[in-house]
Amino acid sequence: MNKKPIANISLDLDNQWSYMKIHGDEGWDLYPSYFDIFIPHVLNVLDELDLKITFFIVGKDTESEENRKYLRMITERGHEVGNHSYHHESWLQTYSYEKIENEIINAEKAIEVATGQKPIGFRGPGFSWSKDLLKVLESRGYKYDASTLPTFLGPLARAYYFAKSDLSKEEKRARKELFGKFSEGFRKLKPYKWDLGEGKTIVEIPVTTMPIFKLPFHLSYLIFLGNISMGLMQFYLSIAIFLCKITKTPISFLLHPLDLIGGDQITQLAFFPGMNVESKSKVEIFNKVIETLKTHYGVVQMSEHHTFLDSKIKMEVIKI
Ligand SMILES: [Zn+2]
Repeated sequence: MNKKPIANISLDLDNQWSYMKIHGDEGWDLYPSYFDIFIPHVLNVLDELDLKITFFIVGKDTESEENRKYLRMITERGHEVGNHSYHHESWLQTYSYEKIENEIINAEKAIEVATGQKPIGFRGPGFSWSKDLLKVLESRGYKYDASTLPTFLGPLARAYYFAKSDLSKEEKRARKELFGKFSEGFRKLKPYKWDLGEGKTIVEIPVTTMPIFKLPFHLSYLIFLGNISMGLMQFYLSIAIFLCKITKTPISFLLHPLDLIGGDQITQLAFFPGMNVESKSKVEIFNKVIETLKTHYGVVQMSEHHTFLDSKIKMEVIKI
């Protein structure tokens, strides 16, 4: 590994149905999938950039044979797979220990069968997590959790989502902690270890937000800015990287499918915010972002980042 600090890249492989579900659209429970279009597309984009990343996969998506065909390509092309729960419900923190255990184990087994790789990392849907969740992960031999997003903007993102959705009062109540509480903003940005008691720990690798300001700069935000002006996007990203460098914060950079593909290819979601932008423009912004990241950071998948942390870095231990 070179001397540059590390940036890891991961993608939450949310499928068409999970976007429809969170949006409150009918028909999501038929589990429509865009893997046939999205997965070959993203694998080509990553190959072009010579990038290996971590894909967080939802267990439910392994049920169809058609989906499994595409999921298998992810590991065949050298990427890591992580666990993104079985049903992708963004309120895991309200679940009992047993219910969480089922979610994790069922997804883990299904992902291993589908891709030939056992996940060692987890990210909760909608950044949901709890102490019980971390305990389950530790007991299953997971090496890291990646579910925290330290930002003060969670409640704002949630309000925006609700305004754009057709959710009922009932559905909104179930999603009341979607994207996290304001207090999430006080959490640490640098990777650390959760102390789970009885000498047990698990590494936490938070999604990186801007040090000090805790403003998110994952790809969805950069695509949004890049569509206003490429210069503005570059400026925002430069500030984020500058602050990470002076505070010696490694970067955990998050992608979502709709950041990389447009309504021109996924016509079923053409009405979604940001989907009026074509794939070509999104990929162009992504290429610029990766080029900038690579100037300052060694860019790797999450498991590799974890190995480095585990062997080289003395991480802070934090009581839950
Ligand atoms: Zn997700």
